[in-house]
Amino acid sequence: MRTTSGRSDRVLVVGAGLAGLAAALHLAGAGRQVTVVERAPAPGGRAGLHQLDGYRIDTGPTVLTMPELVDEALQAVGASLADRLDLVPLHPAYQARFADGSVLDVHTDAEAMEQEVRRFAGPAEAAGYRRLRRWLVEVYRAEMHRFIDANFDSPLDLLSPELLRLAALGGFGRLGAAVGRFLGDERLRRVFSFQALYAGLDPRRALALYAVISYMDTVGGVWFPRGGMHAVPRALADAAADAGVAFRYGTEVTDLERRGDRVVAARTATGERLRADAFVLTPDLPVVHRLLGRRPRRRLRWSPSAVVLHAGTTRSWSEAHHTISFGAAWEQTFTEIIRDGALMSDPSLLVTRPTATDPTLAPAGRELHYLLAPCPNLATGPIDWARVGPAYRDELLRTAERRGFTGLESSIEVQELVTPADWAAQGHAAGTPFSAAHTFPQTGPFRPRNLVRGLGNVVLAGSGTTPGVGVPPVLVSGKLAAQRITGRR
Ligand SMILES: Cc1cc2nc3c(=O)[nH]c(=O)nc-3n(C[C@H](O)[C@H](O)[C@H](O)COP(=O)(O)OP(=O)(O)OC[C@H]3O[C@@H](n4cnc5c(N)ncnc54)[C@H](O)[C@@H]3O)c2cc1C
Repeated sequence: MRTTSGRSDRVLVVGAGLAGLAAALHLAGAGRQVTVVERAPAPGGRAGLHQLDGYRIDTGPTVLTMPELVDEALQAVGASLADRLDLVPLHPAYQARFADGSVLDVHTDAEAMEQEVRRFAGPAEAAGYRRLRRWLVEVYRAEMHRFIDANFDSPLDLLSPELLRLAALGGFGRLGAAVGRFLGDERLRRVFSFQALYAGLDPRRALALYAVISYMDTVGGVWFPRGGMHAVPRALADAAADAGVAFRYGTEVTDLERRGDRVVAARTATGERLRADAFVLTPDLPVVHRLLGRRPRRRLRWSPSAVVLHAGTTRSWSEAHHTISFGAAWEQTFTEIIRDGALMSDPSLLVTRPTATDPTLAPAGRELHYLLAPCPNLATGPIDWARVGPAYRDELLRTAERRGFTGLESSIEVQELVTPADWAAQGHAAGTPFSAAHTFPQTGPFRPRNLVRGLGNVVLAGSGTTPGVGVPPVLVSGKLAAQRITGRR
């Protein structure tokens, strides 16, 4: 594994999102003196907290998978998840509602899910689910340690027995077809393939190896921390501070001072010079390129974006924490948001009710809802969100009302709409918070690398580099960045 060169006693991490926090913990655990510089007044980045009229709103991720990676980061400094977070496993992980009125509880327990699939679609599908589950486990085992939790120095690093295993499992075919080998029911196929969208891909076209994401939520499990998702970065930051990591909040890095092939200091908006031996950069790629004073070497394809409506309501509609409301349209939905740059004509929505698990996130007697609608990014769909946003919010509310959330609009007492224009204003390329899509040429050793060409002491972490987007990958990216500096695997 290639590493940074020269001294690395003092490390400066730019960004206190999950990637920066994981990097800081792994570096501190390896004996480095770490300072984290964050422009916002608090940690979390995309996993932020917004307090509004007594509601505690998670601004980003809602589906927490692979909490063992949070534990791993905490363990690096001798802390533990059990001591720092109160995680509640969600049963079911999701409730899926379909346009024909049918409802499926998606359990991560094999027995419970087999029974549910039998009730929903009969014994042949239940047997297919069991086979699918075994395949998902094998895909995960072939990929996780060799291809996801791994620093690549060259595409040749891919060549391994695991690559052959992945090929034998059909990992280089298409995800939609692979899931279709196990399940005939079109609704069930959706439940085990929609996760490709998390990687910015159309399930029909995504390589089957992205089934690893379906493994994470439908087999590995989904959790929710009491206190909300923001409790995760808060716990990581507290543990890092306890281990001696220094935090500089409200401090924006504006450029990096170079001497030869090394960065010697980060300059801040207030003119301070923060010196260090090595640097970890975790902002989104456009910010990183600006800090490095570089133009991107190639045009990247960006993931689709999302409109999020946060709603504080006087009532709730379902027991479920996460509801996926599928429209009748499916293939067309991906064509619209990924290829055509158009809004979904028959929206599929993720509706999350965090107060189902932690009622303290809303004032007494109130509920918090989070509606996420995938939409095109600003590169494929240059929509004027200032104009379209309010009308689209109304359309989403009407859709949710038709799908069983009757009276939703009139029950809202506090609301906030977040559109691609807001993500762009935060510095995210193409107005998407989901960074570069995981197309094959933007995955693994082909994704923007975490070592920076021509600079001996700078490493990247976060969703724009390896392994990619989402809470589990960015936690891994922080660890991989730390390994590039410490040389320790
Ligand atoms: C709406 C939404 C829903 C999502 N849902 C899920 C989900 O359910 N499950 C899941 O696993 N993932 C989900 N994700 C993805 C996941 O949240 C992100 O991939 C992850 O949080 C990104 O972490 P990061 O550390 O790479 O980046 P960030 O969190 O963006 O951290 C980068 C940090 O750098 C700071 N920064 C930027 N520029 C500077 C500068 N110049 N100086 C100092 N600091 C700077 C930023 O303020 C930020 O705090 C979701 C994301 C969003 C937005």
